[in-house]
Amino acid sequence: MIQFINVSKEYQNGTVGLKNIDLKIEEGEFVYLVGASGAGKSTFTKLLIREILPTQGNILVNGKSITRLKSRAIPQYRRNIGFIFQNYRLLSDRTAAENIAFAIEVLGVGKREVERKVDYALHLVGLTDRKNHFPDEMSGGEQQRVAIARAIVNNPKIIIADEPTGNLDPQTASGIMDILNDINIKGATIIMATHDSNIVNRSSHRVIELSHGQLVRDDRQGGYYLGYR
Ligand code: ADP
Repeated sequence: MIQFINVSKEYQNGTVGLKNIDLKIEEGEFVYLVGASGAGKSTFTKLLIREILPTQGNILVNGKSITRLKSRAIPQYRRNIGFIFQNYRLLSDRTAAENIAFAIEVLGVGKREVERKVDYALHLVGLTDRKNHFPDEMSGGEQQRVAIARAIVNNPKIIIADEPTGNLDPQTASGIMDILNDINIKGATIIMATHDSNIVNRSSHRVIELSHGQLVRDDRQGGYYLGYR
């Protein structure tokens, strides 16, 4: 479970990133994080991955305060989180399989086990036949599927996706959403920042809306209001 307790983040120049956020996200939930540019979505995700610290309040993940984590415990904490970005962020000189393997090789996983996990992750995103392709030999949708495979290869409990469909056409985006929904059904908690009202409206996932750093909506029925309040 993720819990924000009266969390505020004021940047050094005085800009308010988030203000008095109180919310709980249960294990296995799928949550859309919406709001205009500058609303605080990245601040929210950066706090959650412990890239930045709040200036007020506390953040608990599975009952433990991540704001009090020692620096040396941060890599271990992040291993339980998968990241997916708008621009894929694959290594261009590595194949699909190598990009995915890299995420677990650094953890000291044995060669055979790496191969097994990579093959399974590629299978889950439907890309077994692109295993040995380099990023520039794949479409945007395929690259994003590789990025998803990389995010899930270590079987993280929490997935954070930042505009994962932002660069994709609607049909490809819909395929990416099918994969994310599958991963969610298998048990992962998914927090996805998005501007895509079509995607938000097509599902019944919870919607958290930020505006000027404040929580202005937390709707478990889902749906995206056109235009921000
Ligand atoms: P979003 O991801 O919804 O676009 P952000 O979380 O990036 O919003 O930004 C929230 C607010 O915090 C904005 O006003 C932004 O300009 C400000 N902000 C973000 N990062 C910094 C930073 N490192 N220093 C100062 N202000 C920042």
